Amino acid sequence: MFICKNCKNIDKFELMFAPDYAGSKTFTRRYNANGELEITVDGYIFVPDLQFMNDHAVCKYCGQIYIWDYNMNKNPEISQ
Ligand SMILES: [Zn+2]
Repeated sequence: MFICKNCKNIDKFELMFAPDYAGSKTFTRRYNANGELEITVDGYIFVPDLQFMNDHAVCKYCGQIYIWDYNMNKNPEISQ
């Protein structure tokens, strides 16, 4: 999971696609059995790393980019 260092939201993001990206630009997200975030883009499934997030993800709430960090807390609902 990834946390926005600006507004502290977790895994709430939109993806930025290159202007010449030819796919439908639709993506879905889910958590796999290891609790890792998986992104599916046009049928291609991958587990994003921090570099990917900071290159391609924009926070859905504060609109910032390059602000992601790994969220080490596996149970945010419980600790909050
Ligand atoms: Zn944010």
